[in-house]
Amino acid sequence: MNRIQFYSNKSFNRAVELREIDTKPSEISIIPVFKDQFFITKSLNINKIIMNIPIELASLSEKKYFLGIINNKEVWCIDLSEIEQSIISNFLNNSILCCLRDCFHLINEKEASLLAYGKGIVHWNSTHQYCNNCGSKTITEEKGHRRKCSNNRCNSLHFPRINPAVIVLIEYKQENSPPLCLLNMHKKENGYMCSLFSGFSEIGESLEDTVVREMKEEVNVTVSNIKYIASQPWTFPSSMMLGFSAKAKNKDFKIDNIEIKEAKWFSANQIIEMVKDNTLIISKKDSISNYLIEKWVYENS
Ligand SMILES: [Zn+2]
Repeated sequence: MNRIQFYSNKSFNRAVELREIDTKPSEISIIPVFKDQFFITKSLNINKIIMNIPIELASLSEKKYFLGIINNKEVWCIDLSEIEQSIISNFLNNSILCCLRDCFHLINEKEASLLAYGKGIVHWNSTHQYCNNCGSKTITEEKGHRRKCSNNRCNSLHFPRINPAVIVLIEYKQENSPPLCLLNMHKKENGYMCSLFSGFSEIGESLEDTVVREMKEEVNVTVSNIKYIASQPWTFPSSMMLGFSAKAKNKDFKIDNIEIKEAKWFSANQIIEMVKDNTLIISKKDSISNYLIEKWVYENS
């Protein structure tokens, strides 16, 4: 299977060494973000995400954060959330706002990776305006990659944090018949959408502990033989998805009826048939859930 995951395909240099230096870039690209959303505009009848804004608009917000270097050009993102939309419209004609997960089809994997990173940095800065140690205002440092408490008696430094979450493909190997995988089913009008089982790691847990606990909680399946497969930055808003496979000891399961409403075992060929019939849709193409399911189907069909 030759497939690249969305949001994981880093094709830019983060240029960490430039975060503490004042640079005077000859070329710069400033990606606008507004309340976790991006701007889309029509250019030659094609919808495009706006990847740069006029310098006059960029000068209206101090909330600019350095992302890295692409083709010798500095790339920044800017938070325009506090600028009136009518003022923004003067600069970005006929643009509309869109969540990244609803417009990822307009971009390639490389652009998706950059935008997810920018969105995550903007979100972290906007939600860490106050020190969680003393409550004073924080100020941005290292071009948006660190915040410092403005209270001289505190001086706490704050760094972007990500929350690890596991996502698991549960497999059951039967003797003399094809292997099965357990899918999380979401009822839709004409069939189902499916995904995998996931959950956040808790304090004091290894990732393997989380896999065992979450699978027990969500579908009451005892799993073993846990294998790491791939990870994906998931800045919706600040997670790291860690994809695993795990073996179920037997086929019995029981949904928790809270997070999971329906689940079912499938062989790879059954999934292929149902996807063909449009009675089953695998979770959105940009998700690691989709990647793990497609990979398993490819290897077991
Ligand atoms: Zn403080």
